Amino acid sequence: KVQRDADETFLFYSAEMDQRAKDHLRLETELRAALAGGQLELHYQPKVSLRSGRIVGAEALIRWRHPERGMISPNDFIPLAEETGLIFEVGNWVLEEACRQIRAWKDCGLAMPPVAVNMSARQFDRRLPARIQDVLERHGVQPEQIMLEITESLLVGGFDNVIAIMNELVAMGLALALDDFGTGYSSLAYLKKFPISTLKIDRSFVIGLPDEENDCAIARAIVTMAQQLRQEIVAEGVETAEQMAFLRDLGCDQLQGWLFSPAVPAVDFALMLRNGKRLTVARANQA
Ligand code: C2E
Ligand code: MG
Ligand code: MG
Ligand code: MG
Repeated sequence: KVQRDADETFLFYSAEMDQRAKDHLRLETELRAALAGGQLELHYQPKVSLRSGRIVGAEALIRWRHPERGMISPNDFIPLAEETGLIFEVGNWVLEEACRQIRAWKDCGLAMPPVAVNMSARQFDRRLPARIQDVLERHGVQPEQIMLEITESLLVGGFDNVIAIMNELVAMGLALALDDFGTGYSSLAYLKKFPISTLKIDRSFVIGLPDEENDCAIARAIVTMAQQLRQEIVAEGVETAEQMAFLRDLGCDQLQGWLFSPAVPAVDFALMLRNGKRLTVARANQA
């Protein structure tokens, strides 16, 4: 009986794994076609100053407009791209497209704030600074125009190597942000060794503000620490006026979230900038 169960379990898993492998292979093939066939897009989500209410930055977020399955979220294909190594091509496309778009906006006379681009750990190799230099030069984009968002997982292992690459990027004039802060497991002691100008509080700590005591304590600790380290602090996933008021009173610098705007196509982002769309920053204790 035990043996039979084991056999059935094995059959069940192997069939499931087979299906998974097939799904992966198909997705990989389709992603290659998407890269070649112009199905990828960057959308832009504004970052807003909690002092002025103005748009002070943007995050470029990739979207896959699949011909049959509609818009596919990066969470559903970036991990696969990382596994298969396709992330190099995807990452290069993202850098190229962001710089092309920034150039186009500048040529229209738009005053562009810095645009942040997400980086996977695997893209972070020795050739990255040269590759970025090349893209910037070809599009005539200043390095100060670009911020790179990296996650804590990148900081695991090979610290010296990673720090050297980071320093090179910062020396070039790019800014670095630590994304999804608080969800990884990098030691706080390392934090001061990285040439990072911005910390992004992960959405999972923002959700419970201002009612969840634990989330409030974590948000407060992160903001206090960032201030001590002279880092800008951005809260991600801000959806309510109450969350905004709490973060503002903590001294958080910027927010990014649906309260102000989701990520939108480039044309819509340009309209927001041009129209001077602003956040109404209410005080928490206002009657
Ligand atoms: P992330 O870098 O932490 O980006 C923030 C995510 O939160 C985005 O999801 C954004 O659309 C979403 N978000 C922003 N405000 C709110 C809000 O108020 N409420 C909620 N519920 N969500 C909000 P998205 O665009 O689906 O991207 C997911 C993740 O995929 C990103 O997380 C990033 O890690 C990765 N990703 C996106 N674009 C790229 C890319 O070009 N390259 C790489 N390597 N990764 C990317
Ligand atoms: Mg990000
Ligand atoms: Mg994030
Ligand atoms: Mg995130």
